[in-house]
Amino acid sequence: MTVAESLVDLESVRTLLAHSDPDGRLVPCDLRSLVVGSGALGATAAAVESLVPAKPGGARRVVVLVDETPIRRGSEDVKSAVLEMLAADSETQLVVLTDGHAELHVTEQVVDGAIEACRGADVVVAVGGGTISDIGKLAAAALPGLPVVTVMTAASVDGYTDNVSVTLKDGVKRTVPSVWPDVVIADAETVAGAPARMNRAGYGEMTSMYVAPADWRLASLIGVDTSFHPGPIRLLDALSAELDACASGVGTGEPQAVQRLTWALALRGIATGVAGSTACLSGVEHLVSHMLDLRAAQLGLATGLHGEQVGAGSVVAACAWEMLRDRLAGARMPAVVTPVDPDAAQVRVREAFARLDPSGHIADECWRDYSRKLDRTAAAHEQISAVVADWGRHDSEVARLVRPARVIAAGLQAAGTPALLVDLGPDVDAGTARWAVENCALMRDRFTVVDLLTLLGWWETDDVDELLARVDAAVVSDRMSP
Ligand SMILES: [Zn+2]
Repeated sequence: MTVAESLVDLESVRTLLAHSDPDGRLVPCDLRSLVVGSGALGATAAAVESLVPAKPGGARRVVVLVDETPIRRGSEDVKSAVLEMLAADSETQLVVLTDGHAELHVTEQVVDGAIEACRGADVVVAVGGGTISDIGKLAAAALPGLPVVTVMTAASVDGYTDNVSVTLKDGVKRTVPSVWPDVVIADAETVAGAPARMNRAGYGEMTSMYVAPADWRLASLIGVDTSFHPGPIRLLDALSAELDACASGVGTGEPQAVQRLTWALALRGIATGVAGSTACLSGVEHLVSHMLDLRAAQLGLATGLHGEQVGAGSVVAACAWEMLRDRLAGARMPAVVTPVDPDAAQVRVREAFARLDPSGHIADECWRDYSRKLDRTAAAHEQISAVVADWGRHDSEVARLVRPARVIAAGLQAAGTPALLVDLGPDVDAGTARWAVENCALMRDRFTVVDLLTLLGWWETDDVDELLARVDAAVVSDRMSP
């Protein structure tokens, strides 16, 4: 029996993690129950009852958080079904969150509204996609003791089963601590009925596991992030075969494959949560995605699908790793680490974001984070030089954490989700894709392969040209293969 086959329930995940964590350094997983499968929607009432038993006279108060997006399960309306189910022995209140836009954003105002609505509730049930799930967890974080049940309605992202939420701060996406949901329910019929493009995007989100762990390891090798731990990597390794097996079925919308993807996304979320850092699964590919989000928000365009952007970003990230490894292996002269000049860096940050936001607010927010990274990188200069000088010793470990770009691209294509940034839609042309890739390191304090390329003097215009050519080759060569 393979490890993947043995990961059949939450208990087996806990066992795997416990085996890889004899010192107990991982964050405990406080998710109590994970229900994925056919008919799982019916488990919502039992989940609420298990957390807060009904009070005599039906005084248990349940707030159901939703956005305005209609969610169907066959001919049934999912939100009404949940409300009806809970109304049998609870006082229920439906809270529809809106911020005046076609799609809801996790702004301070929206979160404050959710907190107010949940005040005094016995349980909150968040029904929807990643945004509603994030808001439910933030409301519970602000109201200690309030249990959260999340009913996930699409297999589009992995953020349901962890203890962090993505928020919008000064127009920039930031991940902040929230709480583990108590119960996560993924009803196969509801998820399979979500728009096919959303579930395919979930496959794209998964592919960050083929690149981000290498960035995470790099940051620990040079000493700027001490959170690296092999436990979450083991969990992700165990999911790899599962993901390969479901790619083409996700592409054709086959319910069994979508269910396997849902399960893989849920376990992947747990990997992030127990790692105690989103760095485990968020490196270059997420930075590229955040850049596109930031631009979309600023220009009033629709936000792209997170998983689609992450998938195409993963091909970019894998190519960045291939370029670094090829150059370090082929260098005729020892590579030299040159500290980044903070004044020049500040000009770069201002230039990168000026055309989006002339007021300078976005540049200020990004510079706050990027300058922190530069300070830490400067302090780690000797360690970085030592790692580069001794790269031969680290290369095989890093190589194990990165899949070849053409293999990632082939998986994305099988799953029917974009492998190239320019295939994301009309809002992302070649110039925008290049801008997002070229400047991705400037928006956040996370150290990645792009920061190392920058320190080695390998992130100039020509280098970005080479990287983008590598991306095209990785994707096109796959398209031409039989
Ligand atoms: Zn993600």
